[in-house]
Amino acid sequence: MDLKNLKYYNEFFVCAYCGYCVNYKTNAACPTFYSSHHEISTGRGKMITARNLAQGLLNKKEGLTALTEGLFSCTFCGACEQVCIVDIPLTEAYTELKSLVQDFLPKGIKKVFKSLDNSKNIYGMDQEDRNLWSIDIEEIYEEWVNTPAKIGYFIGCVASYYSTPGRTPAAVLELTKKANEKISIFSPKEHCCGNPYLLGGRNDKAKDLARYNIEVIKNLGIETLITSCAGCYRVISREYPKLLEKELPFKVITHMEYIYSLIKDNKISIKSENPVKVSFKDPCELGRHCGVYDIARDLINSIPNVENYELANNREKALCCGAGGLLKINHPRMAEDIANILIAQMEEKEIELCLNACPTCLFNIDQQLKKKKSQIKSIDIVELVLERT
Ligand code: SF4
Ligand code: SF4
Repeated sequence: MDLKNLKYYNEFFVCAYCGYCVNYKTNAACPTFYSSHHEISTGRGKMITARNLAQGLLNKKEGLTALTEGLFSCTFCGACEQVCIVDIPLTEAYTELKSLVQDFLPKGIKKVFKSLDNSKNIYGMDQEDRNLWSIDIEEIYEEWVNTPAKIGYFIGCVASYYSTPGRTPAAVLELTKKANEKISIFSPKEHCCGNPYLLGGRNDKAKDLARYNIEVIKNLGIETLITSCAGCYRVISREYPKLLEKELPFKVITHMEYIYSLIKDNKISIKSENPVKVSFKDPCELGRHCGVYDIARDLINSIPNVENYELANNREKALCCGAGGLLKINHPRMAEDIANILIAQMEEKEIELCLNACPTCLFNIDQQLKKKKSQIKSIDIVELVLERT
């Protein structure tokens, strides 16, 4: 495709090269620049490269290779877009540019695509094993799986296959049972939400997954869909309607909103236990991408004796956990460096629990905390709610 045909072509020339999006330290902007010190990782770096390519200042191979490096050494955190002085829709421009570099994709991205093509999940594992998360709550799972209900739960690939993030859906089901409610789970039929295809520039393939998942959800009569993954939430609620050019036949909410409603309706009662110091880590795809900030604070405030110490980077200025945008697959060291900034902020405040609302954040921070032998624990907010019921 000719660069001139891109929807965001003009934006390459709008960029003022001010560098406001580059500096993590002063502007809470690019976390990957903090680790790589390579301008190509930043918003400005990608805009300059695309402009040089469009003007013929770089030959095609050279330009697309450099652009690929920039596009895949990026967490898709949206911090650049948040601070851009001329309001360039940078993350959408990145997604469009990624469609141009399909012949140059990094090995890790190609592997993810292969897994998705063959197995419909990001890990290339058997679809039958999508219920690994439910081992400790088998009875509830067996009772509710594939049964119609007004409220349904999309588990997502990360929590489905890994035991640490898999504790989150198990906690949501236990809390639902305690509240004498029922939700529909359909994890054996779930296909990946499609986020990795979008992050890799294959919107066409994400569209196929969107069509399939919507059909499964519709057939179970689900009117409200819960997600506990920030990526699934963003993609299903924001991207599916754009990809398919039509409204969703159901509403999408976060697991925090759902559990908070059970507390407000007095369906779950929370005990007052020992005081604990926590910090909520805003996931980029919930916060900056979708504007979801308050519900986490409301939920935390509804638990007695739990005090939230805001991180130095919070809400619109939140820092990526390091694993966003498939960065961990391509640049694991950068993912560690970024998680370490967060951990240092928590250690400074003597935080005991890092509360998450995304399996990728939870998992990446957990791995790094363990590596550093830190006393801080990384859990999902709803795990804390369950502990205190
Ligand atoms: S999305 Fe995040 S990591 Fe990527 S260029 Fe923007 S600020 Fe940097
Ligand atoms: S903040 Fe916006 S205008 Fe300034 S360098 Fe970054 S992308 Fe360009």
